[in-house]
Order: sequence, then C-alpha cells, then structure tokens
Amino acid sequence: MASRRDPLLLTPGPLTTSDEVKAAMGRDWGSRDDAFIEMTARVRERLLDLAGGVGSHVCVPLQGSGTFAVEAALGTLVPREGKVLILVNGAYGRRMARICEVIGRAHTVLETGEDAPSDPDAVAELLASDDTITHVAAVQCETTSGILNPIVEIAAATVRAGRSLLVDAMSAFGALELNAAALPCVAVMASANKCLEGVPGLAFVIAHEVTLRAKVGRAPSYSLDLYDQWRGLEANGQWRFTPPTQVLAALDRALVEHAEEGGVAGRGARYRRNCQVLVDGMRDLGFETFLPDALQAPIIVTFHAPGDARFVFEEFYRALAARGYLIYPGKLTAAETFRVGCIGRIDEGDMNGFLAAAGEVLDEMAVTARGRG
Ligand SMILES: *Cc1c(COP(=O)(O)O)cnc(C)c1O
Repeated sequence: MASRRDPLLLTPGPLTTSDEVKAAMGRDWGSRDDAFIEMTARVRERLLDLAGGVGSHVCVPLQGSGTFAVEAALGTLVPREGKVLILVNGAYGRRMARICEVIGRAHTVLETGEDAPSDPDAVAELLASDDTITHVAAVQCETTSGILNPIVEIAAATVRAGRSLLVDAMSAFGALELNAAALPCVAVMASANKCLEGVPGLAFVIAHEVTLRAKVGRAPSYSLDLYDQWRGLEANGQWRFTPPTQVLAALDRALVEHAEEGGVAGRGARYRRNCQVLVDGMRDLGFETFLPDALQAPIIVTFHAPGDARFVFEEFYRALAARGYLIYPGKLTAAETFRVGCIGRIDEGDMNGFLAAAGEVLDEMAVTARGRG
C-alpha cells in the first residue's frame, strides 16, 4: 500500500503513512497565516466530529506526543482536590498513575492482570465504597498487550455513580467506535500518529466544554494547560506557542484519506482484516498469541516468544528489519513476548509479506519449537 522505500512499521506508532501524507509535509506554513488558521480549524472540527463530540465537547490540539495530552487532561480537568480511580492492565494505565503522582492529583489504582480487561463491576463497587473519588481514568485499548477494555460498561458504571470519566483512546482513535457524548466522558485523549495515520508531534484532547470552561483543575503546568490552549485557539484561531505546522498539514491530509476509506468503519475493517491474516498466519507458523481472540483489539497483537532456545528476539528483529519489516519488543511484565502492529497504511498483502519473511527467518534461525516454552 505504501511505497517500499521505507521499512513497513508493524508497531503501535509512529507507523507507516501514505506517500500523500508524507508529501503534505513538503511546504512551509506561516503559523499566523490565514491558510494555516483555516487548516487548524478544519482539523479540530473533523476530530471533534470523529469523537462524537459536536455540541458538547471541544477539540484542543497540543504540540507533543500522546502523553502530553494525557497529562494535560488529567492536570486541567481533575480539580486539585479531586481523586482519580485509574484502571490499570498495562503500561499506559500505570503511566497515568505516575502522571497523577508527579502533578499532585490524588489517585487510587484498580489493577487487573495484563490479560484481563478492566472490570466494570469492580469499578462500581469501588466507587460505592469510596466517595472521595471524583474521576475514573481508563485506557480503551491497552497497547501493552493489545487488549480491548469494555469502555462503554466502564462509562456506565462511572456515570451511574455520578463521577466523571477520562478515556485514553490513543491507540484506537479513528479505528474503533467511541462517542464522547454518548459514553459520556469529560475527555478523550488521542494523537495524530496512530490509527489516524498521520505523523508524530501532535496530540489532542476532546474535552467536555462546560467542564473545561470551569477550568476546575487549574493545571499545574504552564504549557500543558488545556484551558489556556483552548482559549488561545478560540480567541484568534492561532496556537498559543509554535505549532507543528508540517505535522498538522500531514494530519489534514490523513483525515481526508480516513474519510475516503469510509471513516471509522472502513479503517476498522481494514485493521480487522490485517489482524486476522496476521494471527492466522502466525498460528500456522506455530506461534501462540498472548490473548484469547475474544479480548484482542485489531490494533497490535502480542505473541509469546518461542520456547526454543535458538530463538533470540534481537536476531529475529534484525533479520526482519533487513527484509523491510520493523516489529516491536514485548512490554509485558508477566511473560516473554513480542508484538506486531496491525495499524498504519498497510493491508493484508503487506501482512502476508511479513509472514513469509518471518517464516524464512525462523527457518534460518532453525527455530522449530515455536509455541511458548
Ligand atoms: C501511544 C500511546 C500513548 C501515548 O504515547 P506517546 O509515546 O506519548 O505518544 C498513550 N496511551 C496509549 C494507550 C498509547 O498506545
């Protein structure tokens, strides 16, 4: 699908982008110029629409990687005297806990195993037993394992208890359905360089307008103050500080391609095909997935490292890279694993190419026992 000058990125982002997205970065933009202001407005509107937040939420873009948006949302939307219940089943949930620690927001963690979805009933129970909790923070697809968390049920438990929800939708935004108003949630955090197939350098928060307007949090950071960033954009359409101009232009183009593919449904369908071809093919090669199919999101798949002592991940990685495929190391605390992404401008033909390469490399390495040890 993409041109093969560059390696295919079978990773959770940055990921493979189209030639047109790359080409969109080939010009200079004046950040105070009308054309750039219009592009900013167009992208914000489109993202808000994708998040189902028109009329209730606003889109606040931020310079930086996805974590900047997570930190800005927690700092601005959770009041200083608030307390966040963080649902953890991997590194990104743990990262939110660490952010709360650093920015001084009281929090408590509800942790499940890396192969167990966050449990809405346990959320309901905890909220009933601790009335100091004001907010719940959850990860839609925990990229650490690739597990899908039941975000609709978590939202229902949160709202029933009269608390507010923040959703880290980073790894699935644009490919899996999520509706900020229907959930409802006070914030959806995501970035340009995952399922939207833009390039890294821009994150955004879809924030509930009334909540943001109350600027209850009084952000503990100057540059990550979502309220100030929003007021700046609303005042004159301009970014508060130097914007990532080329990154925005790439996202503007990527959003056109997203719409042409049929939006969230179309993109999600291609990723589901990629995921199916990958999982079937890897199983044919003898690999085992870390997650059962029912818990797997079509974003990134974790495989057990083969038990065969001749399997050395670094060697496997380098031989695949030499063939033009970049995969990702595991990030689990519980098991020896590696990951292969299904997202980006790649299709099932690319997946089949990867599977053929993986088969060759395993034969070269003489890895015969490919199931978990
Ligand atoms: C990628 C990702 C983030 C943000 O990571 P950055 O490296 O800061 O872009 C946050 N949460 C999830 C679930 C992610 O997949």
